[in-house]
Amino acid sequence: MADAVTFEELKSGADRIFEAFGREFKRFERFVGDNQDAFFVQATIKELERDKFSLADSESLSRELSDLRTRFTGKKSEWAAAKKTVGRMDPEERGRAGQYLLAIEVGMTDRLERARINLDKITENLRTAREAIDVTLPGRRPRRGHLHPITVVREKIEDIFVSLGYAIEDGREIETDFYNFDALNIPENHPARASQDTFYTSDGYALRSQTSTVQIHAMQRRGAPVRMIAPGRVFRRDTPDPTHNPMFFQVEGLCVDRGISMAHLKGTVAEFLRRMFGEQTVTRFRPSYFPFTEPSAEFDFSCFKCGGAGCRICKNSGWIELGGSGMVHPNVLRGAGVDPEEFSGFAFGLGIDRMVGLMYGLDDIRLLFENDARFLEQFD
Ligand SMILES: [Zn+2]
Repeated sequence: MADAVTFEELKSGADRIFEAFGREFKRFERFVGDNQDAFFVQATIKELERDKFSLADSESLSRELSDLRTRFTGKKSEWAAAKKTVGRMDPEERGRAGQYLLAIEVGMTDRLERARINLDKITENLRTAREAIDVTLPGRRPRRGHLHPITVVREKIEDIFVSLGYAIEDGREIETDFYNFDALNIPENHPARASQDTFYTSDGYALRSQTSTVQIHAMQRRGAPVRMIAPGRVFRRDTPDPTHNPMFFQVEGLCVDRGISMAHLKGTVAEFLRRMFGEQTVTRFRPSYFPFTEPSAEFDFSCFKCGGAGCRICKNSGWIELGGSGMVHPNVLRGAGVDPEEFSGFAFGLGIDRMVGLMYGLDDIRLLFENDARFLEQFD
């Protein structure tokens, strides 16, 4: 049998363990509070936030607290060994010794438990805070886009013609030979087919080489009189260079009614260009040839930059060439089911991209189709 243990010996051993516990527990002291008091947890969290206490800090402290509990109150702890020595004491001393040890043990387990509960609550709060969306944070503003320069100019053209009483027609981009050529008075073997060579599908359809196709559809559908413009994409088998692209934008205009003459054509185009480029704009017509109009004319307008004096944009001529026009050929009217004896009309067409290039001073129209944001952002 081991030596008897006196109360004084047991007390000094227990006091030493309790002191050691007190030293190690010091860093958990701030978490001991009244567990019923929610304000304690909130106040502690506020204080911890100031110390930049993170969720990871809280989780690792919880683990350390659990280790501390095992080391000081676990089955293999010094404390467990000390409790066993009570059995080796004088039976009359055992009661007092047991009470003394119990008081110390409660002192340790009570603080450990309160710190554990509060640390768990704090961990939970920090975890919720991390997962929550802070609605008070300033949002990330979506970048505001803007219209493509071709769209800006197209809409301006549309606005002008709508105010002149024209309807806007939306045509198809894939056409039959009939609409793209025959109905426009360009029979097979006509040389104009070669200059407007386009892309064909394997089953005989073609990507339209001009928006003039919409004239035919509009007259067939609406009959005469008709007044419409048709902005849209057209296609040619061109090699891309600074002034050509295999895909580009045109706008086509058509006016068919009784008694329409070349004077109406000139008045309409001149009014359009004045509204587009300013009151001072002068328009001129030059005789030309198109299979679907007779007579035909190309039209130019006085340079909007130099007013006719000559500059880089107008290549020092004072004039800018813009489009083609003419009186609708009787064959075209007839082909679309309109009687050329009763009705006459004019048509005109111009390139939207060319206008954009002029208005914004672009050296290369291909920039308009590359979708490079660094280029497009300049038109905001
Ligand atoms: Zn000029």
